[in-house]
Amino acid sequence: MAELKLNNINKYYDKDVHAVKDFNLDIGDKEFVVFVGPSGCGKSTTLRMIAGLEEISGGDLLIDDERVNDVPPKNRDIAMVFQNYALYPHMTVYDNIAFGLKLRKFKKDVIKEKVVEAAKILGLEDYLDRKPKALSGGQRQRVALGRAIVRNAKVFLMDEPLSNLDAKLRVQMRTEIQKLHQRLQTTTIYVTHDQTEAMTMATRLVVMKDGVVQQVGSPKEVFDNP
Ligand code: ADP
Ligand code: ADP
Repeated sequence: MAELKLNNINKYYDKDVHAVKDFNLDIGDKEFVVFVGPSGCGKSTTLRMIAGLEEISGGDLLIDDERVNDVPPKNRDIAMVFQNYALYPHMTVYDNIAFGLKLRKFKKDVIKEKVVEAAKILGLEDYLDRKPKALSGGQRQRVALGRAIVRNAKVFLMDEPLSNLDAKLRVQMRTEIQKLHQRLQTTTIYVTHDQTEAMTMATRLVVMKDGVVQQVGSPKEVFDNP
């Protein structure tokens, strides 16, 4: 169960770089929300503030009604997937997926069970002993997803996760991510600059421009009132 409230969130990188302006949004449990807008509009900054990777300049961020502005990332119960996958090149697929669990001192047999289950869901069973360089782009992104799902985090944040994939794989992975969401029902925020991707994936769209939320609604509502 995870609800997020962004109450008047602001981000200044500098006194003249006002990257996010009075961002207000309530995200319900199990929702799949997409932030969409051109490069530089503040999507990634907003996501990173939610993850705790970037300080919030003003406003309140609530997760299940608890204010988390000052909670460090590792205590936020959030898993994030990045565009460049951020895998450890010297580690196997198994160890990449297991990494966050080892960090949190889970028992070895519990880790193994979770990693093997995630690998099955993502079709990576036969690749557990490989290093990332011996994987395709799609497989690498599945490893990154695996690392997020084994954590059982309350919230998934995905920052342009498919941007480095070719067009065909991108379409396939969209469906895989949607299926993953149907299965796990984890509250998810997905960031993309790609309008088609946003329209096909979102249950709710948040359209941003120049640090400002311009529109919030279903893909149909946004499409009908551009
Ligand atoms: P998006 O994810 O929509 O492409 P960003 O959140 O990355 O947008 O960037 C929003 C604005 O903040 C841009 O003007 C960008 O140049 C600026 N910005 C992003 N990161 C930094 C940073 N670390 N330092 C200064 N300015 C930044
Ligand atoms: P370390 O503790 O040295 O980091 P590893 O993470 O390589 O060790 O392995 C820890 C345990 O994870 C092993 O004992 C093994 O049970 C399991 N394991 C590692 N790789 C695999 C794999 N490809 N498939 C199944 N289990 C694995």
